[in-house]
Amino acid sequence: MLDRPHTPEELNAEPDAQAAGPTAPLTDPFGRSISYLRISVTDRCDFRCFYCMSEHMTFLPKTEVLTLEELDRLCTAFVRKGVRKIRITGGEPLVRRDIMSLFAKLSRHLDSGTLNELTLTTNASQLAHYSKDLYAHGVRRINVSLDTLDPQKFKTLTRGGKLERVLQGIEAARTAGLRIKINTVALKKLNEHEIPHIIEWAHGLGMDLTLIETMPLGEVDGDRMDHYLPLPLVRQRLEESWTLSDLEISTGGPARYVKIAETGGKVGFITPLSHTFCASCNRVRVTCTGRIYMCLGQEAYVDLKEPLRYDASDDALNRAIERAIGRKPEAHDFAIERPNAGPAVSRHMSVTGG
Ligand code: SAM
Ligand code: SF4
Repeated sequence: MLDRPHTPEELNAEPDAQAAGPTAPLTDPFGRSISYLRISVTDRCDFRCFYCMSEHMTFLPKTEVLTLEELDRLCTAFVRKGVRKIRITGGEPLVRRDIMSLFAKLSRHLDSGTLNELTLTTNASQLAHYSKDLYAHGVRRINVSLDTLDPQKFKTLTRGGKLERVLQGIEAARTAGLRIKINTVALKKLNEHEIPHIIEWAHGLGMDLTLIETMPLGEVDGDRMDHYLPLPLVRQRLEESWTLSDLEISTGGPARYVKIAETGGKVGFITPLSHTFCASCNRVRVTCTGRIYMCLGQEAYVDLKEPLRYDASDDALNRAIERAIGRKPEAHDFAIERPNAGPAVSRHMSVTGG
C-alpha cells in the first residue's frame, strides 16, 4: 500500500483518534515503543559505493533538504516524544556543511538526560577532522562502514575513495575516545574471502564488526544479485576455523550477535531480508527531505517538511509524527531472490539513511 504525503490542510486538520495516538513514549499499533530515530542529514556523499549509488547520481536541490535548524526542531520533537537514541546518517553526514553545529545543538538533550545516545554512521573519510568535536558534543560510539582493507579494491568499490584517509579517520576517532563498530557489506566475489581478515583486524583494535547483506534499495548500475552473499553461508565458513557462540544481545534491530573465541570480539549478522526482527523493531527513519519512513522495506511515508516549514509552533509536526507512528507496518516486504528483480524499494539507502 502506498501512503501519499499529506497536504498541509490534512495535517492541520483535527487528528482522528488514531492520529492523535499516544504521547510519550510513541507506541505503534503493534505495541512497539519507538525509541530510536535514524535521520539522514544529506543525500550527498564523497564516495559512490556501487551497491548504494549509481555512478552518476543526481543529488537533490538544496531547497528540498531540511536546514540544520529544521533538523534540530525535528529531532527535538522526537526527543519530547520519548525517543532516546538518535543516529545521524546520510549520504555521508560529515560532508554536510557546518554539521558540527547540529551535533552541538542536539547535545543539550544529552546534557539534560532526555536523550541517552547521539551517534552517527559514517564512511570515516572526514573523521580525522571531526573526531574531537564529535566527542566534545557527547558522541561516544560511532559506526564506520568499511568493506575492504585492500586499497585498490576500496577504490573500485567506492568508485574513487582513498582507504588511507579512512584508516587515518578511524585512528583519529580511537584517539579521541570514540568507540567504533565496523559495518561491512558481505559481497560475493568482492570481499567474501577477505571477511576473516577484516574481522581479525577489527577485533585486534578492539572494534566489533557487523556484517550486512545487500538490500534491494534504489536503482544501481548492474545486477545486485551478482554480489548478493547470504550471511548463513558466511557464518558457516567462519565456523570452519573459529568457535562462534550466540549472544543474547537485542538492540531491537536486525542484528544477531556471536562471540568469536579466537579473536575475543563480537560479530553481528544483519539479515534484513528475514522477518525475524520486525516484531521488536523500535525505530523509524527520516530522510533529509523530512519524509518519515516507518519501515526501511516499505514505500509508505508521511511528510514532515510541510508541517515544519509552515507551522512555527510544533503542533502540526507533532500530529504528523503521531499519524506516522500510527501507520507503522507490522513487517517489511523485501525480496531480493526474484530473478532480475528491480529494487524492492525505489529510494536509495543514501536518501533514507543506513
Ligand atoms: N555514508 C555513511 C556510511 O557509508 O557509513 C552513512 C550512510 S550509508 C547509506 C549507511 C550504511 O548503509 C553503510 O554501512 C552502507 O554500507 C549501507 N548500505 C548502503 N546501501 C546498501 C544496500 N543496498 N544494501 C545494504 N547496505 C547498504
Ligand atoms: Fe556514500 Fe555511505 Fe552510500 Fe558509500 S554507503 S556511497 S559512503 S552513503
